[in-house]
Amino acid sequence: MFNKFQHKKFSGSTTMAEVEQAMGSLGGIYLGADSAGATGTAPAAIETKPAAEKVLTVETIAARVRQGKIRKVAVLSGAGLSTAAGIPDFRSPGSGLYSQMEKFKLPFPEAVFSLEYFMEDPKPFYTIAQSMLKQYLPTKAHYFIRLLQDKGILLRNFTQNVDNLEIDAGVKPELLVQAHGTIATSHCASCHAEVDHRLMIEHVKKGEPLMCTKCKNPCKPDIIMFGESLPVQFSQELDTMKQADLVIIIGTSLKVFPFSALIGMAGPTVPRIVVDRVVPDKIADSKEKRDVLMLGDAEDSATKLAAMFGLEKEFNKLLLEREALQKKYAELAKKEK
Ligand SMILES: [Zn+2]
Repeated sequence: MFNKFQHKKFSGSTTMAEVEQAMGSLGGIYLGADSAGATGTAPAAIETKPAAEKVLTVETIAARVRQGKIRKVAVLSGAGLSTAAGIPDFRSPGSGLYSQMEKFKLPFPEAVFSLEYFMEDPKPFYTIAQSMLKQYLPTKAHYFIRLLQDKGILLRNFTQNVDNLEIDAGVKPELLVQAHGTIATSHCASCHAEVDHRLMIEHVKKGEPLMCTKCKNPCKPDIIMFGESLPVQFSQELDTMKQADLVIIIGTSLKVFPFSALIGMAGPTVPRIVVDRVVPDKIADSKEKRDVLMLGDAEDSATKLAAMFGLEKEFNKLLLEREALQKKYAELAKKEK
């Protein structure tokens, strides 16, 4: 019943044509469950850079940023960007959100994010949403994205995260594409009437589904569930990726289509810095020369990148802003108690 998720395999260098074809066949862009990732080896990137820059490293890329040769950075981010904020990762067994779902005896764990299941029984979602709707502090890595924006070199941040922490860190809405929606606003899941988000938060805290006053169906935060199409903004912004002269991929395993297809949309020689604890399969399999790995903690890597880009001072200023936000949240939490 719930196995309607779309699966589509893509190589590391997905072309727009491939994506458009796939999207056409989906009749709109839908959120897919984990695809198997890349298969086979993508063709090597055409090398057109001068000899001195042939060996691509984080250092040589950073030098190009410092020299003003890189001006349009696309950041693709996922759960790993927010783990330092304390937001549980959906996929980790034990600590992940799915493991909290055992008591509900779902047909399969992902059903909690299926629209069809939600319409029948919204209770499991309202339980899981309790940990999603808490007040979290944006991570240093979020402020690194803000730093790129402040320097005028952030082309776009495409994010799979629904936590809205990019906005909290000061990333402008027009530079942010929340591909899987956001928890910051809420609507009726059926008639799409807007609901007061504060009311939603109250209901989530109690674990009691908020029902629409108009059509009596359950309401939900505007996160994209399986079976729902992606925000229009996602398809509208796909072409923007073609302008990128650097792609930074942070904390996403690139397993969810169509988000995963974004990495192939920048030009074939555009360097890609991958910041993660493990190399995403799609990157490992594609073996493209333009991929540079920064393995490890996203917070450390963001701090290192800021320094390598020659923006340490500006970054430290932003971290002071983050501290101020942290104090503000602490005071609000006190008042609530
Ligand atoms: Zn309604």
